[in-house]
Formats: sequence, structure tokens, C-alpha cells
Amino acid sequence: MGGLFRISHSKVQSFDRCRKQYWYRHVSGLEPPAPPPPTPPGVIGTGVHRAMKFLCQTGDADDGRNELDAYLRMPAHECAGPGTEAYAAAFQMFENGCQAHDTIIAQRSWAELDTWIARPGDGVTLQARIDRADRLGPLAWQVIDWKTGRWDMDEIVDAQLDLGHVVVRVTKQLPAAAEVTAIAWNLRNGRRRIRALRRSDAVATIRRFVGIARRIQETTEFEATPSGACGFCEWRPQCPDAARAEAGEIEWLEDDEPELPAGASEEDIPAELP
Ligand code: SF4
Repeated sequence: MGGLFRISHSKVQSFDRCRKQYWYRHVSGLEPPAPPPPTPPGVIGTGVHRAMKFLCQTGDADDGRNELDAYLRMPAHECAGPGTEAYAAAFQMFENGCQAHDTIIAQRSWAELDTWIARPGDGVTLQARIDRADRLGPLAWQVIDWKTGRWDMDEIVDAQLDLGHVVVRVTKQLPAAAEVTAIAWNLRNGRRRIRALRRSDAVATIRRFVGIARRIQETTEFEATPSGACGFCEWRPQCPDAARAEAGEIEWLEDDEPELPAGASEEDIPAELP
């Protein structure tokens, strides 16, 4: 895939959130900072996803429970270790996941499909993954993205589901008439966001991502957009823009120079009377 521009959901999210972050991550060539210490939500999310993967692979809930327990007992994950609220929450989410799993009547299931779709003519490779795929019938498929957070932005979830749809349609070479139900399934609160997708939707998704890739490649200015997302940005400790925003530094607010009318230059300002 040498020479093709790689695009993924996370790359697009970073570009839309803050171009400076995108620059740090994908353009600067700087060594990434050491990852921050694990947090309970992060450990829960990874642990539950691993457990759900094992459950899908073997169909035995104990395989998932054993993996989740071993993952949470790792010293590095003590913030969600046994006896903590996070540990109990992780197991409750996995039990919710077991109930979800039991409702799925599938001919065959796959855990964590991960793929790329090369578009040499467009100079782009689209990378994508989905947590689970199920063949429900010859022309009926389902993909699932497990969620463990307290809330998700619908627009971002939909983009993830659209990519998951492309993943299953490409990797399993679905016939044109196949329909795919794409579900974002929250194991914390049971909320399900469902999209019913056809092959024309996959074509539209690929076209959209190729267009976004082109826009990113044409970008030459990577301005910072400090926001609440800075708290989750690994570059925060060395980002001067975030530091300035947090310190409340707005240079023009303190500036007592007179503002020039549109089209005027400094020479147009009348000299002060003696
Ligand atoms: S810390 Fe904030 S402003 Fe700086 S790169 Fe990260 S997201 Fe952008």
C-alpha cells in the first residue's frame, strides 16, 4: 500500500476536532508523548471489548469473564481492579453484553473484523474495523460496535457504523442485494442506535472518505482549536495553544491600539495635535 494516503475514522475525527492535533499526530514526525496513565473508563472499555471478543469467538461467557478478570487484575490497571467501582461496572457491562449476545441468532459470527480498502485510482487506502459481524441469513447481515461510555455523539457513531458496514461488505464479499443492520450497542445503558444499510450506502461512504482524504491532503494550515477535548489530547503538555487558552490569554482583548476601519492603513490615522 506504499504511496497511498491512509485514511481512517480516527484520523478524520482528529482532523475535524483540531488540525493542530492532526498535525502533531500525522504530519509533524515528532515522537509521540508517553501515554497518560490508564483511567477507569479506558480500562473498562478495553477490558469489556476483549471479553466480548472472547465471547463471540467461543460462545462461552466464562471465557469472557476470565479474560476480563485477568485484564482488570493487571497491576497497570489497578484503577479498575478488584474492589473498585470500575471493576463492578465492567462486570455489569459484560453481563449486559452476554444478554445481548444471547439475543443474536446468527448462522455465523466474526469478532473484530479489521481491514483496509485500497483505492489506487484515488490514491487512498481506507482503514476500518468493527467489533462484531453476524450472518443472520443469506442476504441479512449485522455489524455491531460495542459502546461502554456514558454518552456518544450520534454523528460520530453513524460515521463509525457506516465504516463498519463497508468492512463487512468488502471482507465477506456480500452480494449486491444483501442488507446490513449496523448497530452501536451501549453495554452501559442498553441504548442501541441502528442503521439499515445497502450497497449504495457503502459506495457513498467510500466516496465520502475519498473526498475527505483529498481535502486533508490539500491542507497546508493546521490551526489549533482548543476545547474540552484538549483534556484527552496526548499532546496537551506541550501544546502552547491549549496552555494559552487555559490561561485566558486573548491578546487583542488587552490591546488599546485603535481599530482601523476596513480598508484603512496606519497612515490614514490623523497625527495627534501638538
Ligand atoms: S492540546 Fe488541544 S489545542 Fe493542542 S493539539 Fe491537542 S486538541 Fe489541539
